[in-house]
Amino acid sequence: MQRVVGIEQWRRLAEDQRGAGRRIGLVATMGALHRGHQSLIAAARANGDYVIMTIFVNPRQFNDPTDLRAYPRTPEADRALAESMGVDALVEPVMAEMWPAYPDPTPTTVSVAGLGDVLEGAGRPGHFDGVASVVAKLAIVTGPSRAYFGEKDFQQLAVVRRMVLDLGLDVEVVGCPIVRDDDGLALSSRNVRLGPESRLRALSLSRALGLAGDLDGPASAMRAAMRATMEAAGVVVGYAEVVDPATLRALDDDAVGRARALVAGVVDGVRLIDNREVELRRGP
Ligand code: AMP
Repeated sequence: MQRVVGIEQWRRLAEDQRGAGRRIGLVATMGALHRGHQSLIAAARANGDYVIMTIFVNPRQFNDPTDLRAYPRTPEADRALAESMGVDALVEPVMAEMWPAYPDPTPTTVSVAGLGDVLEGAGRPGHFDGVASVVAKLAIVTGPSRAYFGEKDFQQLAVVRRMVLDLGLDVEVVGCPIVRDDDGLALSSRNVRLGPESRLRALSLSRALGLAGDLDGPASAMRAAMRATMEAAGVVVGYAEVVDPATLRALDDDAVGRARALVAGVVDGVRLIDNREVELRRGP
């Protein structure tokens, strides 16, 4: 596995691989790698890509400095895991090259209005500007044929797809299914911050989504069931929504067919999100 830090070396390595006729698959992460990240690497390898994984804890997507400080960092374990998973090149860029103005605000921002303003964006202002800006930069420097993102961050996937379309980036965005622990908890780097009791509370997110899925609609009944399930477990609910999977607009009780249920909550100071596909039927 090649290890790269400098932006020029990173750009040259990618150019060389494209020149040799390889297709690059980009897996962008913030590290503290787990099986969710591994599934993205596996998907890239299954497509025969030259896999470039980036690890960069992007401060621009954190609106809460405490959350940024508490974000887990396990660089040694990440390098070993990336190597064992068959990552071809691991890029760990430095702040001075990613955001040269940091800690002052970066003048250039990529912003996806609408999709980036609802749900996570409403509770975390500027979050998706930070996401879109960093993904744009990683894609511009890397020049991948494909970029792999998890459905765990369903809204992020929608924002990235829209940005790629609007900016005409020549990259296929590949969405990958959510990887869960056996008890249903969606894997997240933040889960290491959950003690045993918090973890039990956190399970109410996936349980709420499961209940919503069993209900078959209408949307308002799903919302109410999800919220009640999470609140009963002592979760501070951020949102419990049922939306159109393409526009992320909230659906009313006339809506039928495939929809996406998304939940967010704070469990003992740790912010968690999850989502699943649901089927809406008209109420009686
Ligand atoms: P992160 O390091 O949290 O920024 O995540 C990097 C990428 O891994 C994103 O595309 C995430 O959606 C994806 N990812 C994180 N957790 C999971 C999971 N449990 N299942 C599938 N993909 C995931």
